[in-house]
Amino acid sequence: LFITLEGGDGAGKTTQSKLLVNWLEQVGHNVVVTREPGGSDLGLELREIVLHRRGDMDPRAEALIYAADRAHHIATVVRPALERGDIVVQDRYIDSSEAYQGAGRVLGADEVRELSLWATQGLLPDVTVLLDLDPTDGRERLDSARTRYDRLEAEKQDFHTRVRDAFLERAAKEPDRILVVDAARDMNEIATAIRKRIQIHLPQ
Ligand code: C5P
Ligand code: MG
Repeated sequence: LFITLEGGDGAGKTTQSKLLVNWLEQVGHNVVVTREPGGSDLGLELREIVLHRRGDMDPRAEALIYAADRAHHIATVVRPALERGDIVVQDRYIDSSEAYQGAGRVLGADEVRELSLWATQGLLPDVTVLLDLDPTDGRERLDSARTRYDRLEAEKQDFHTRVRDAFLERAAKEPDRILVVDAARDMNEIATAIRKRIQIHLPQ
């Protein structure tokens, strides 16, 4: 079972991923928790490059680094875990690239999606949770983490609006895969909604 969490910066993906993993482990599943960019050894190096050079990197170069991170991560971490029968809970995947590189950096959602599908040999999640949040609220949540806040501040508001809209468009196209959750809701309510959806996919 391959589960991904998606959404804008500050939407609570990391928090919800932890809550979900705790629950899955408590009910007895083997879980691999991972993320992109940076879910493998090579990926950690690529994450450094792509986040550090952000803003002064050609958008296509950026998209290719995300794709390289994804290709290696899926081949060396995610596919082996799925083949063992583990549950994979992943913070960001293909929908993030479609939204950030495709819509945010205006490279084209379809092209960037095709690139990701090539990189992963077409691996799609069984379930995706989209934590949807107004970008302004997301920014406020990150206010405490100063470096992240500056990074976000540096990017234009309309960038984050394009990202959000692209996530929602993808969700509208794949309602069976993607559960959209209002990320402004209470943390525990969100966790309950996510569990309800995942429960359907668990072996009984
Ligand atoms: O989710 P995480 O905090 O690890 O993401 C790091 C940063 O990389 C975030 O600010 C996110 O906006 C950005 N990112 C991106 N394109 C992606 C994935 C993440 O610009 N495909
Ligand atoms: Mg996070």
